[in-house]
Amino acid sequence: MATAKQKIIESLLAQKELHGDELFSTRLIESKAEESHSEIKEQKNSRSGKMSEPSPKISSVIGMDATNELDKYYQEICNCLACPLGKTRNKFVFGVGNPNAKVMLVGEGPGADEDEQGIPFVGRAGQLLTKILEAINFKREEVYIANIVKCRPPGNRTPNPVEIETCISYLHKQIEIIKPKMILCLGTTAATSLLGKKESLGAMRNKVHQIGEIKAVVTYHPAALLRNPNWKKDCWADVQFFRKLYDEMFA
Ligand code: URA
Repeated sequence: MATAKQKIIESLLAQKELHGDELFSTRLIESKAEESHSEIKEQKNSRSGKMSEPSPKISSVIGMDATNELDKYYQEICNCLACPLGKTRNKFVFGVGNPNAKVMLVGEGPGADEDEQGIPFVGRAGQLLTKILEAINFKREEVYIANIVKCRPPGNRTPNPVEIETCISYLHKQIEIIKPKMILCLGTTAATSLLGKKESLGAMRNKVHQIGEIKAVVTYHPAALLRNPNWKKDCWADVQFFRKLYDEMFA
């Protein structure tokens, strides 16, 4: 039977998943959970007179594998200097959201606000993205958001092919950990890099692409919508198409 302490830990983890609150450090929760698990084992063992054994990995006890793995992966790569963008960045922008998300959104690369805060899509384009998500009944916290490149290209230029080639394996690994069922590619760079196609945005829209087992849909980048509000109508059609696909898969 779960102890009060275990229940508190589980509730904190649920809150973290819903609200993405960085206050709840995974490692802190994990170490508390480990502590509590070994305490329970020790209590049991002292009753049976047995020596305490090493506790099993906590991720298998409270089901936080993807959260842990993602956290560990972030620690591994966050000081990356593999391409020149590493030298000019302020913060490494790993990704944000639900590590168990069914839906992932992929943009191009961090802008000035993202570079300052270390979180993708927090500037004007990000606020528009949050509204787009809400319009199709997704909470930002429910999905996972990442970029093709993790460091800001100076002056917000498009990342060059070498930078993309160097960085994209990080995104592939995130996808492998999160295992989303659907990906929304935001803009040409995200779409061509992830789909491995050299087509125009217009040619890639209005279709369901496959990235392995994952279904992918392409739409405009929110920054492009800020520059060309006329494209919002088409983006609205794309995201409704994406939502319909989601409902067909999961409703
Ligand atoms: N544009 C992107 O492509 N990604 C961000 O995180 C912000 C703006």
